[in-house]
Amino acid sequence: MCELVCSMKKHGEFNSAISRITTIISIEDGFCLPIFCFQCDDYPCGQVCPSGAISRENGVVRVDEQKCIGCRMCLLACPFGAMNFYSEGGYAINCDTCDGDPECIKFCYPKALSFRETELSMHHKKKSLAQRLKNIYGEKQEMLD
Ligand code: SF4
Ligand code: SF4
Repeated sequence: MCELVCSMKKHGEFNSAISRITTIISIEDGFCLPIFCFQCDDYPCGQVCPSGAISRENGVVRVDEQKCIGCRMCLLACPFGAMNFYSEGGYAINCDTCDGDPECIKFCYPKALSFRETELSMHHKKKSLAQRLKNIYGEKQEMLD
């Protein structure tokens, strides 16, 4: 639901492929984890952007659609897989928190999502957790390959 709501709000269509939030679901063990931009302090996506299209202002990482040349380097650089690409527009997309009023949260009926101004320490804990989960999934993927 969050994926569909996001794509409708940002691009006017129900299409989870262009959502800025992605839910990873493991059918085997019933594990589900929403992935979205962590608004990293050092935002590695922006560090590799050759056109300076990515900036961080007031704690929010944004892509300037006009500056983006569509190289997708930021998708490779994001350690969480949180950057997506809007092929029709030819530019990268990430969660910009809907300017502090995320639309996805309003439609999450189990109330699994919430929006809070995170303290730095909590932010780093989340990043650490996400990295660990990424490693676990990476190992699982290697076993499957
Ligand atoms: S897109 Fe990825 S690397 Fe960039 S700020 Fe968001 S989580 Fe960090
Ligand atoms: S896809 Fe756009 S925002 Fe991402 S690195 Fe390339 S130019 Fe920068």
